[in-house]
This record gives sequence, structure tokens and C-alpha cells, in this order.
Amino acid sequence: MANLDEPLRKVLGDKTAKVLEKGLDLHTAGDLLHHYPRRYAHRGELTQLSGLQDGEHVTVMAEVVKVQGRTLSRSPGYVLEITVTDGTGELKLSFFGRKGSYRPEKDLSPGTRGLFAGKISTYRPRSGRAVRQLAHPQYKVVHEKGAEQAAQEWADEIIPIYPSTKNLPIETIGTSVGTVLDQLDLPADPMPAPLLRRRDLIGLREAYEGIHRPRSWEDLGRARKRLKWDEAFVVQVALAQRRLAASALPATPRPPSFGGLQAEFDARLPFELTEGQREVGDEIAADLALEHPMHRLLQGDVGSGKTVVALRAMLQVVDGGGQAALLAPTEVLAQQHHRSITGMLGDLAQAGQIGGADNATRVALLTGSQGAKARKEALLDAASGAAGIVVGTHALLQESVQFADLGLVVVDEQHRFGVEQRDALREKTGGGRPHVLVMTATPIPRTVAMTVFGDLETSVLGQLPAGRSEIQTHVVPPEKPAFFARTWERIKEEASNGRQIYIVCPRIGEQEGDEGDAIASDEEARRSPLGIMEVLPKLEELLTGLRIGVLHGKLHPDEKDAVMRRFTDRDLDVLLATTVIEVGVDVPNATVMVIMDADRFGVSQLHQLRGRVGRGSLHGLCLLVTDAEPGSKARERLDAVASTTDGFKLSRLDLEQRREGDVLGAAQAGRTSSLRLLTLQKDEDVIRDAREEATTLVEKDPDLSDHPGLATVLASLLDEDRADFLEKT
Ligand code: ADP
Ligand code: MG
Repeated sequence: MANLDEPLRKVLGDKTAKVLEKGLDLHTAGDLLHHYPRRYAHRGELTQLSGLQDGEHVTVMAEVVKVQGRTLSRSPGYVLEITVTDGTGELKLSFFGRKGSYRPEKDLSPGTRGLFAGKISTYRPRSGRAVRQLAHPQYKVVHEKGAEQAAQEWADEIIPIYPSTKNLPIETIGTSVGTVLDQLDLPADPMPAPLLRRRDLIGLREAYEGIHRPRSWEDLGRARKRLKWDEAFVVQVALAQRRLAASALPATPRPPSFGGLQAEFDARLPFELTEGQREVGDEIAADLALEHPMHRLLQGDVGSGKTVVALRAMLQVVDGGGQAALLAPTEVLAQQHHRSITGMLGDLAQAGQIGGADNATRVALLTGSQGAKARKEALLDAASGAAGIVVGTHALLQESVQFADLGLVVVDEQHRFGVEQRDALREKTGGGRPHVLVMTATPIPRTVAMTVFGDLETSVLGQLPAGRSEIQTHVVPPEKPAFFARTWERIKEEASNGRQIYIVCPRIGEQEGDEGDAIASDEEARRSPLGIMEVLPKLEELLTGLRIGVLHGKLHPDEKDAVMRRFTDRDLDVLLATTVIEVGVDVPNATVMVIMDADRFGVSQLHQLRGRVGRGSLHGLCLLVTDAEPGSKARERLDAVASTTDGFKLSRLDLEQRREGDVLGAAQAGRTSSLRLLTLQKDEDVIRDAREEATTLVEKDPDLSDHPGLATVLASLLDEDRADFLEKT
């Protein structure tokens, strides 16, 4: 009898175990049972040999007519060729290898019927017609039964097709799984029985049977449902435990105070807060008043006004005697935040200065590149507590930076910040933990939020401030050269009306060392994407008379700041930039954005970029220049971006187009994802239900002492990789 930890060696013998280990990295009974079939063949799906297409993945049912070995002059020296037929055509199966090393001819003698699966290719012998072949097909011998019974059973039989590798016959996996299943000795089901009943889930043993040896499609469906559940549930239990642990930590409560900076700031706001801003603001205000740290994710589309929300939270903390740190992903953005916050606060930020308000505070800026004097001053202000608000890049995380009483950390644009960094900031508070507010403008589909950001509470700013003008987006395609010409005219018109223009390129274009932000294109062998430095001379020709500035990541930070400032002050008409302007840059007078080689960017990125225009009362125009042909995937993406400004819709599309691993982040890259059946694209219901159940269960039994089976599964499934992944999110 074997449990899940049993080494395959013991269950299957050394020889087979070695094959599975080498070929598929499977070591234990559990590993093998979790190696699920990639798909299932059934008769209705079988392809006739007469209808085979080159490059197609097929499963065919055929009878062996001829078996012949041939030595080859080149490596690997030998090929076994088996000809099969189904009456409609012929197909050659080729098994390459050293003679005698691997012997499918044992199983496949003339007259044997079998299922053969693989990818069809064509080869042309030196003489004669082209031959369709399957190289190294997976195969399964089908033993003929009594005639009429056979037909029925044939129609019903579901044949699992396993992911395999070269030289590993499908039979080996299938029989090995069978052996393991026959000997399997599972402990009690790790899921509580009432939960299984409530969620209409079958037992684990039945589920393993059902996925590997389904007797019917219903069987298979129930098995998948249960196993999917387990995948979702384990992650959610781990997250629920993290949430619970975090909420048990102490933090200094900072309830709203009357007549403080926050109230004064509110009184001076030149606009009404939107309903969303008020609601989210209330949620945050309530969180900050608690004795446990807030962990909140604030999602709001570009331009939805997250900064004001964050600033009000920061002021509440300052009013409560603490300090707030605002972490920005780039220097440009840190500088801009510093400028706009100081601007919005006016004399409220001028503590110690002539004209400063009585209860004023200070806003310090800390970046990696600032001069020694400015830095020293900022460090002092942070350490002494004179600065209520400290804005900065990751320079804030360095050890030399000390706070007097850090009460709140705001992380702007989460997707560029790792959790290690958040944690580094948290550590600056000594005993208590600061409250944490994470803001992102990339709308995150619910499933991702629940999984990847599962330890955070989420708030959504759904609507844009009133009076926000719309952004029109058009694709400028290769088949319409007139559009392209018109683009430059349009830029000149806008500039002559005093408006400003962004032009974005995927690269800097000074040979090596580019901002590697643009996504690789799916088609290989395309020209490299346009770089700023290639575009600049042409622009100067096309747009004579306009003042053009250049902004990219390799400029010295002072230079970056200077260029941004000139653009903000309207000393520049055109800003030619890489994606450094993607996040947060706010120049309401900018009305047009032209994105060159737009197909080289991802959907969310394009959406972020165009959010830079249409920020004031003026309509925005975004032109997506591309040479992608109509009908291509790239064009579909651009059309989608042009068709809607709904960030959530686009992020869902983005999710569909990316692979799971990309979504889950770097921690998963290059490793087999521990999500085998569950997908973030399709299983929102499962994830939501699992989250609900996990939360209840963990609240009642935080360390799972009443659920030892579950604790064990959690420990084993949360292998190092997974734990690592959770740590990082
Ligand atoms: P984002 O959410 O993209 O960070 P910002 O916070 O930069 O958006 O806000 C975008 C612009 O909208 C800013 O110029 C800001 O002053 C303005 N804004 C914010 N809230 C409101 C509001 N309630 N009414 C009008 N304008 C607002
Ligand atoms: Mg912002």
C-alpha cells in the first residue's frame, strides 16, 4: 500500500521510476497522481487517416500492417518504422533510437490495433511520394473484444493522453498511474466532510480515479471540480492565515481629528470629492483608526484621483502625530508627487517658514540622485519628524533613512514594487507596524486580486471625477498611409492651439541598454521597434518650429526633472519619451498622445499611457501607430484598446492573452505552476467560494489544529516555491 509520499521506486520498481524521474521529474506517488492527462481522446474525436493535415495534433485509431527497422547513417543510428492503416489511408510511425534501446515493436506487431497520438509531419524520401508520419507518437494498444460489445465500449471509452516527453511511451505513464491508484492508501480526506457536502464535491480518492481513469465524462467533470477546488482552497487558506496574522499585529491607531490638517485641506479643495473618493476615504479613515495595521489595495483607473485619497489619509496620520511615506516607482513620479503635494498643501506644508500655517507640516523628498545637501536635509526632517510626509523612490528603503514615527506607507503603482520593499519600509517603525495603502492604476481582475493580492483588502475607485473629458483612440494602420500623414498635421494644429503632445516610442534606440519595456512580438524576425533617437531627427523635420523635449530612463535624474518641468511649464510642445511617462505623469494641458509601434506594448500598458491625456477639461486623443496587418493578433489588441476606455474590461483581455505564469509573477516563472487545473481566467467562482470557506475555517481554527489532514496538505503543497511566491506577493 502506498501513500502520496511513497517514492515511485518502491511502487513501480527502479526501472520505470527512473524513466519517470528523468523524463518528467516525477518522484513520488503524489507527483505522478498530480501529473494529470493533458486531454482525453474519444472515438468521436479520432481523425481519419485520409484527412490528416501537416502540423496537426491528432489521435488516430489504426491497425499495424508493417514493421520495419532501418539503420541510419546519421545519429541516432536507427529508426523503427511502423506502417498503420484505418482503411482510409496510411500513416508511418517513426521511432528513432539506438537499436534495441527502446522497443515499441514488442507491442505493435502486424494486426495489432492501437491509438496513436502526436503531431503530423511530412517527410519526403529520396525517391517516391511524400509520406505522412508521426514521429515518436504516444500509443496505446487496443485489444479487440467481442464485435458488438467492442463497438459500444469503444464509443464510450475515454483515453487519457498524458503530457509526455520523447522516448517515454504514453503506456508507461498510463500503466504506472494505474499501478499507483491500485495500491493507493490515502489518509482521511483532508477536506472537512461538511464542506465537501456544502460545495457538492466528491472525495479525493474518487477524484484521482476520475481524472486518471474516468468511466464517463460526468466522472471526469466531478473529478476536475474537486481537484480544482483543492488548488484554490490551499492558496486561500494560506492567504487567510496571513491576513489573520497581520491583523493581529499592533499598530498605532490614528483616528481622524477635528480641525487638523486633513480638515483644513478638505476645506480648501478646489473641487468636490467624487462619491467614490469619499467612500474609499471613509474606509481608509476607519482602517487607520484601528489598533491593527491596515493592508489595503486601492484600485482606480488612470485619472480617477487616487492621489487626493492618499494625501487625505496621510494628513490624517500626520494629524494623529505620525508620519507618512509615499513610495513612487520612478524619480519622475516621485518628483511630480512632491511638487503636486506641496502645491496642493500650500502653506499647510510650510512649517517653520514665513507664511506657513500654524499647524503646518513639511513634505520631504528623498531620491537616489539628489545632491548631498538636499539629501541631508530630507534625512534630518524624516528622522526628527519635522517632515510629516516623506516622498521618495526606493531610496526611502535604505538603512540610513530613519523616521521619528512612521504611521502610514503609501505605495503608488504597486505593479512596479515588490513586497520585499514594502516590508523593508514596515521595518522602519520598530515595534508597531505602519498602516499600508497600496495603489494601482492597472485594474486587477477579481481573480488576480483574490489570489495574488489575497492578503490585502481592496477598494475600488470606480468612477472618474466629473467633467473629465473623454479620450478618443484611433489605430493608425499600415494600410492607411493618409492617417499617418494626418497625425503630424494634427500635432501641429494642437500645438498651435497651445496644447501639448506626447510621442512615445518603445525604445531609446541608442543601441544597447534599452528600456526593455515593450513586449516581445509574437512574430519573429520583425524589424526592431522604433527608438527615440531614430525618431527625433524625423520629428524635427516634420514638426519644424515646435519645441521638442526628450525624456527617457537613461537621462540623469536632474535632467529628467528639468525636462518634465519644462513640459509642465509649457516650455515644450512635444515630449518624445519612452514609457517612463507611463505612470502617474499629470499635465492637464497635454491633449494628444501618439504611440509609435503601438503593437509592441501590452494592452494594460497602452491603457496606462493614454491615461496621460484627457486629464483636464480638454478632450484627449490617442493615436496608435502600427505596421501590424489587419487581422493579426497585434491588431486585435490595438482595436480592443481603441474600442473601450474601460480599464477593467481591458485588464481581463490582457489576462486572457497572457499565460498564467506571467500573471502570477516571476516567482512562478520557469517552474511548473502549482496551479494545474485552476485558471485565473476562468475559475473566478471557484476562487471566490474557496476564499469564503477558507476565511471561515481559518477564523475558527487559525493554525488548523482541528484539521490535521488539511495542515499536512498545506505543508506539502506549499512547497518552497509556493511559499516563496506567497511571500513575494
Ligand atoms: P490617478 O488616480 O491616476 O493617480 P490623480 O490622482 O493624478 O489620478 O488625479 C488626476 C487629476 O484629477 C488630478 O489633476 C487631480 O487633481 C484631479 N482630481 C482628483 N480628484 C478630483 C475631483 N474629485 N474632481 C476633479 N478633479 C479631481
Ligand atoms: Mg497617480
